[in-house]
Amino acid sequence: MPQSSRWALVIHGGAGQITRAVLAAAQDQGARAGLHAALAAGAALLAAGGTALDAVEAAVRVLEDDSHFNAGRGSAFTHDGGIEMDAAIMDGRDRAAGAVAGITRTRHPVALARRVMDHSPHVLLSGAGADAFSVEQELEQADAGWFETVARRRQLDAMLARGGDGFDVDMKYGTVGAVACDIHGHVAAATSTGGVTGKRWGRIGDSPLIGAGTHADDRAGAVSATGAGEFFIRANVAHEIGARARMLGESMLEAGAAAIAEVGAMGGSGGVILVGADGTGGWRFNTPGMYRGMVSAGAPAVVAIFGDE
Ligand code: ASP
Repeated sequence: MPQSSRWALVIHGGAGQITRAVLAAAQDQGARAGLHAALAAGAALLAAGGTALDAVEAAVRVLEDDSHFNAGRGSAFTHDGGIEMDAAIMDGRDRAAGAVAGITRTRHPVALARRVMDHSPHVLLSGAGADAFSVEQELEQADAGWFETVARRRQLDAMLARGGDGFDVDMKYGTVGAVACDIHGHVAAATSTGGVTGKRWGRIGDSPLIGAGTHADDRAGAVSATGAGEFFIRANVAHEIGARARMLGESMLEAGAAAIAEVGAMGGSGGVILVGADGTGGWRFNTPGMYRGMVSAGAPAVVAIFGDE
């Protein structure tokens, strides 16, 4: 198998109205530490010749356990005060994919998405069935108390007090995702989220939808999105970026900029992380901030939050 010394890992922890004026120092520092920990977990695998697929799962698992982000522990609350998580993973080698939506008990939703990909004939499982599959696969289960945090409960309470109806574009998001390119020249993507605060009626966002919030294809690159999911679904952002790269010859970053401009033109906001099969990576977003980080062979890890960093 041809190998190169080039590997790269790009991660995000959500995009939104994240400015110095609104971000508390503790959240800033905690989120940066979490991003560094996730980069370190994925980079250790990639530097040792591991696969992009394993690296994105490892990075996302770290962020799922970190309550600074809206995935796994620290997930956003539904309108009813519950937790319903979505996740997806995709392998650029053969475009194998797995995803789950509306799950409630799995400590690492991305691990369940991976099981759907590796151990079921399906791509997307939802709700009670997905929860049952998780138990069957003997993945680690957690009580509601593991996922729930005081800060997220406050966000729901504030939204309900305002009479909000499940979709507040000013709220700070916190979905997590990772894209990677390994030394074998393969790419992968993973995304995990608690969705949007106050969601109801079984609402599912873009994160677990292959082609909307998550996509990987060795012929172009890998994408994980974050933002107002309804727009990313309608614009089919993650697939669109790869398609532009393949068919128009744009770089992944150029294609990402075009897709985010499209989301903006539709009235949506958010961002994407990207990596090409050549190992070039980065991000594009149209929000004031996005929790993000990147590390690659021979380059130190970089973490940023605000748009001007
Ligand atoms: N895109 C996610 C969703 O709509 C939310 C986010 O990225 O913060 O569920």
